[in-house]
Amino acid sequence: MRQYADVILSIESRSVDRTFTYEVPEELLGKLSPGTPVKVPFGNGGRLITGYVAALRESAPEGITEFRSIDSLSEKEVAAEAGLVALAFWMHRHYGCMLSQALKTVLPVKRKVRRRSRKAAAAEAAAPAEAALPAAGNAAPAAGQEAAPGAHSGARPVTLNEEQRRAAEAFHADQEAGKQGAYFLFGITGSGKTEVYAEMIREILRQGRQAIVLLPEISLTFQTVERLCRLFGDQIAVIHSRLSAGEKYEQYLRARRGEAKIVVGPRSAVFAPLLRLGLIVIDEEHDSAYENDTVPRYDTRDVALRRAEIEGASVVLCSATPSVVSWDRVKKGQYRLLTLTRRAAAGAVPASVEVVDLRKELRAGNRSVFSRRLRELIEDRLQRREQIILFMNRRGYSNFVSCRSCGNAIRCPHCDVTLTLHRDGTLRCHYCGYRIPVPKLCPDCGSPFLAGFGTGTQKLEMITRKMFPEARVVRLDSDTASGKEAGSRILRSFADGEADILLGTQMVVKGHDFPRVTLVGIMAADTELYVSSYSSAERTFQLLTQAAGRAGRGSRPGTVVVQTYRPDHYAVRAAAAQDYGMFIGEESAYREAGGYPPAVHLLSIELSSKDEKLLARAADFYAHLLGQAARPHGALLIGPADAAVYRLQDYFRKMIYVKHSSYDILLCIKNQAEPAFRAAFPREAGVLYDFR
Ligand code: ADP
Ligand code: ZN
Ligand code: ZN
Repeated sequence: MRQYADVILSIESRSVDRTFTYEVPEELLGKLSPGTPVKVPFGNGGRLITGYVAALRESAPEGITEFRSIDSLSEKEVAAEAGLVALAFWMHRHYGCMLSQALKTVLPVKRKVRRRSRKAAAAEAAAPAEAALPAAGNAAPAAGQEAAPGAHSGARPVTLNEEQRRAAEAFHADQEAGKQGAYFLFGITGSGKTEVYAEMIREILRQGRQAIVLLPEISLTFQTVERLCRLFGDQIAVIHSRLSAGEKYEQYLRARRGEAKIVVGPRSAVFAPLLRLGLIVIDEEHDSAYENDTVPRYDTRDVALRRAEIEGASVVLCSATPSVVSWDRVKKGQYRLLTLTRRAAAGAVPASVEVVDLRKELRAGNRSVFSRRLRELIEDRLQRREQIILFMNRRGYSNFVSCRSCGNAIRCPHCDVTLTLHRDGTLRCHYCGYRIPVPKLCPDCGSPFLAGFGTGTQKLEMITRKMFPEARVVRLDSDTASGKEAGSRILRSFADGEADILLGTQMVVKGHDFPRVTLVGIMAADTELYVSSYSSAERTFQLLTQAAGRAGRGSRPGTVVVQTYRPDHYAVRAAAAQDYGMFIGEESAYREAGGYPPAVHLLSIELSSKDEKLLARAADFYAHLLGQAARPHGALLIGPADAAVYRLQDYFRKMIYVKHSSYDILLCIKNQAEPAFRAAFPREAGVLYDFR
């Protein structure tokens, strides 16, 4: 009997972006399964390269009679699980990336570092290094060892309250009935979502299966990591960005051997090679950290759902501020909704929110960044020795520097943005990292009258120290959190009561649990609203609600002050009312009317080149091809148009959008248009696809 295998080759080239069929030699019969790494001859010289069995077949594909044979099993590579190879297949089709790229993404092998997208580099310039956890390395973090005696079996769980129990029991009942599914755990901030999913994990472990817990940014969610470590001790493997590739790999091996039952990590941990996967938890599912912006672009939530489906596991998405897309799926019945409506800790109630109209402050002659009300409350809290968080979504000192004589702002020579003033006297580009000393004279007109405008976290820190000299102030933003462990060190010292005021960017609102915080000041609630994106209201609502959720988590009630120029905007009003229903009602209507996701599916194509003329030609040509492909389907084509930041790191960028109600049709349009575009512009223009 003959057997054949379809093999995915690990070569990154469009010309081999498909599987190849090989004959299985006698000595390998019965030894192969989907995912097995093999060596196969390829090309004219028959050079041996690595590939992965995608599928086995008993008969040869029609029309082909001659086959090369698989040479041998590949020793060096770790066998990929069938499930992960299947997942790579799905990513290849679903995101339109190359098979080999998908494979590299899912397989837990130490490989050369992938080339990063410019957007990723820019994001990192805006938010440099993620700080590391206290304990790196090859065992559970120190927190696990610090735990009470019996750390191995885990600390004693809290007694779940009625709501929490009901949520956990719904999951248990499904598990007992052998039903796997997708759940949405929707609970207000502080409602104890972590305890609920911890209970779900226990159920999975009782079945002898394994779990993955995804967190947006490990260093900023160290409290959750520590809590999980206390609960589950050394059954946990923590994957974080400070681990070397080898250390990560070691953690994956522990999980794969079954020594670790739970893998906790950022989005890439969705690919943890667990052999008995039972559950994937996605905590703070609304966080944009779940969108991978390197190639292949993927959405961790969708990948998790797909993987769970392939491997017969369940998924739980958790949030107090569900993303608009996820909520749409809840409404369509794709996720089973579990709801928590009350704060869990004894005596804790949701904070009360006060909105301050900054226009009125100005009219009253108050030009300070602190409204009178916020200032009064800060003084009160300092007196009572309670803690305060101030949230300002801009780092640096001044947002920009401009000339009082000619009015020009100083801009980045590589990007279409203004430079931000930093306290050390440098002007920096938050997109590309470019920095220069502040010039003495205006580069345009030579005037010496240059001034900084707007307030960033550095200036806020200075003003705060001046206004409240007795207060101990710490700042958390990507400038102070850039060193190893710096971020979690700042958060820890605040948790330990070593500071009265924690101020910073969105890093300060990331789901921390500080029971002594009774006041949160949102300095400028509308910063995000000025970003031109259909999701800016969603971002604003999430940030404000999450920020408000940091207040009043302990036994003392909390107050939130929202300072804004747009008190009437529905994102601000809904966040102030802590009313998700109100927000989603308005937002859904807006998306529906404007034709934005989830009302339609949207393919965004970003083209980039250093050559502006070539880019314009490429964009016009691609839009033409896409238009041809789109027409029979009635899909809407928009563009090409300049990207919001047209020039980024010397690359010019144009956008093309295609909208249709069917995802598959969008994919089909892209697949139809792409080859002709690639033939005309094989290298010169970079292309990034993003499907929503
Ligand atoms: P969320 O993730 O929903 O914002 P957390 O899981 O961080 O909430 O829980 C908020 C706080 O409530 C934590 O300090 C947690 O220890 C506490 N907590 C959770 N569940 C209970 C419970 N059943 N009894 C007492 N305290 C609880
Ligand atoms: Zn000037
Ligand atoms: Zn720049």
